[in-house]
Amino acid sequence: MDPLFVPPADRWDACVARTLVGRDEVIYRSHLVGADPALTKEGGGNFSVKGTAEDHRGRVNRVLWMSAWGCDGATAEPADFPALRLDELLELRTSGSLSESEMVDYLVDCGLRGEQRRPGIETLTHAFIPARHVDHCHPDAVIALTSFPGGRIAADEEFGDEAIWFDYRQFDIGVARELADRIAASPRCRFVLLANHGLFTWADSSEQCYRNSLEAVARAEGAVAKALLGPADLGGWAVPQVAPQAAPGLLAKILPAIRGALLAGSPGTVLAVNRSPDAVRFASSTRGPLLSQAGPSCPDHLVTVGYRPLVLDQVPTGPEPVLTAIGRYRDWYDDYFERHVPAACRGLGKRTDLPRAIVLPGLGVVTAGPDAAMARLCADHFAQTMTVIRAADAAGGYRSLTPTQAAADEYWPLMRLKPQLRPPGGNLSGQVFLVTGSDDDRLSTVADQLAAAGAHVALGGERPAQAVAAARAISSRYGERRGVAVRSATRDPLGAVQDAVLAYGGFDVLVDMTGSAGLVSAALPVFTGQGRPGTVLLAPDEWTPTELARLESALDAGQADLIVNAVATASPIAVAQAAAFFARPARGGTESDIWQGAVLQPCRI
Ligand SMILES: [Zn+2]
Repeated sequence: MDPLFVPPADRWDACVARTLVGRDEVIYRSHLVGADPALTKEGGGNFSVKGTAEDHRGRVNRVLWMSAWGCDGATAEPADFPALRLDELLELRTSGSLSESEMVDYLVDCGLRGEQRRPGIETLTHAFIPARHVDHCHPDAVIALTSFPGGRIAADEEFGDEAIWFDYRQFDIGVARELADRIAASPRCRFVLLANHGLFTWADSSEQCYRNSLEAVARAEGAVAKALLGPADLGGWAVPQVAPQAAPGLLAKILPAIRGALLAGSPGTVLAVNRSPDAVRFASSTRGPLLSQAGPSCPDHLVTVGYRPLVLDQVPTGPEPVLTAIGRYRDWYDDYFERHVPAACRGLGKRTDLPRAIVLPGLGVVTAGPDAAMARLCADHFAQTMTVIRAADAAGGYRSLTPTQAAADEYWPLMRLKPQLRPPGGNLSGQVFLVTGSDDDRLSTVADQLAAAGAHVALGGERPAQAVAAARAISSRYGERRGVAVRSATRDPLGAVQDAVLAYGGFDVLVDMTGSAGLVSAALPVFTGQGRPGTVLLAPDEWTPTELARLESALDAGQADLIVNAVATASPIAVAQAAAFFARPARGGTESDIWQGAVLQPCRI
């Protein structure tokens, strides 16, 4: 049996740490904890240190350097740690009542400098804990320990009076005061176990604070292991996994339909497919899919996945059962919204009634996001929930937030106003282009130009190594998985199309510079599957009689699902501009859009 948890790595480097003081101490620790998925997922948790700093008039103040709201601990910079006047924060320790919005305003007003990032909602807890260093994170093992009925007893046995158990609640000023009171009344306490949420640790030295987190996770792992009542196999296989050689073909049929359905709720959508052994086992198990309906392991899951994923009850044989299930999910979500979202939290409207994680028995888990990074983060949060469910189930049963608790958090105005981890990209954000060609340099330039405008680009070049290098360069320049290499479109058109679908769920535009006869017909089922017109831009290196014949053939293949355009230009930048222009009908532009470029004279049907 595989281990239940991946343990955190001890990455403390004393040589580095001893050179750091004040805010730099917490930045270093934030990098260590924030980059360790066993301690927290991207953007989760927050970190602080208390010290002194001068204000604009040179007066020395006691300050709390606190993670900014929405910052990612792994990559945090000095600007992500605003300095707050600690004495003003501590004035709230015992007196005064503040609404949520008043509390947020108060925290901003405590800023030492005018132009600072906003601190997060757990700031007062950090301030009220007297220790110099305080960390909050979301470890799988701690969440699992607090997610089964016997978890509290197991935690008591392991931690005794070294830990405080805190039942799930939204973080407001009352929580911060109550936690501070309980910590003050329990002198041996070194940890707070936040049920269905995570962990607080603290210490007067940065290293000890970090080590307390590692210790808490190791002890939580041990407590869960002791509490196991049987094998952690979620009841075993309910359906066999789809054979590895058959899965890509089946997914290539299903994913465009999913992407098309999800595009109804957003201008752009990118999918990520988790086919890891853990994901396939979970999706195919007797109890895993059912238990996933019980709610999230951690509140961060609510932001990306929502309260629950869509679960199919058997191995899908094609798109139809998935589309039917998405329809049922929308009905369920509308009911969840009506029943559980408080009237006071509806001001910003419904987030979406479309699923953002889909459990496919036999195949794995598909997640969605406005870009590849957010689709991956959604996958990370659901992977954490799968880990927690597996452990909690084996320890006696999985318990999570009620629908009412989850809806209150999912629609909590403070949560909805949380800054996005990344700013939205350019005007092709969430759009996917399959760019193919036999001239690798031309292909790379077209792909780079489209990625610069926010697109995700699948590159099907002549030489695989060059396509891989170009895709890597695009991802490092513009963002995670913004470029991927696919098989050569000239030699294997069907393979290139399938790779692009498996990478992103589908594509909106095919830029065909290959001269390959089969590429347009290979792409057509993807557009048909997405249920919306796709765009093909034919842009050969030169218009030979053969190419003109190919254009005729592509036009003949044209149907309601396909809009074919052609351009004659040697300039790869002009090709990219044309591709971006012709992507507009795919995004809901009108047929009357007319190309205004000075360089190109496209032929259109
Ligand atoms: Zn948290």
